[in-house]
Amino acid sequence: MGNVQKIRQKERFIGSLAYGEDLLQGITDLCIMHGVVLGRVEGIGAVKKACIGFYDQEKKEYGFTTFDEAFEITGLMGNISLKEGKPMAHVHVTLADAKGNVYGGHLALGTEVFACEIIIESFDGARFERGLDSVTGLPLWKR
Ligand code: ZN
Repeated sequence: MGNVQKIRQKERFIGSLAYGEDLLQGITDLCIMHGVVLGRVEGIGAVKKACIGFYDQEKKEYGFTTFDEAFEITGLMGNISLKEGKPMAHVHVTLADAKGNVYGGHLALGTEVFACEIIIESFDGARFERGLDSVTGLPLWKR
């Protein structure tokens, strides 16, 4: 059985990230600035270049692909929780090129914002902290 807890809605934030800033770092910085330690994030926009990861379940490690081209952010969603006592945003994206081809994966540092509008929602009532999960090798929520 998994680990599911009841939470309460706390605050909502809406805004845009700056041109040229790192997408993942920008989201993380906003969470730190506003004290979001548990929450969710969604967004749309465009990037100038991107780096996304895919977790190899056999090797138990991420492989990263860097794209040196512009994309639309057709979907950005993720959650915020604590890792080593600090807010960590775990974000997945789908990115579309000029022909509508879509790439997707685990958002990594190295994705540069062209424009991005995001909504962050924070929760309270539970505390989720990440720690190494020996089965998957991932920093999952501790039970
Ligand atoms: Zn992920």
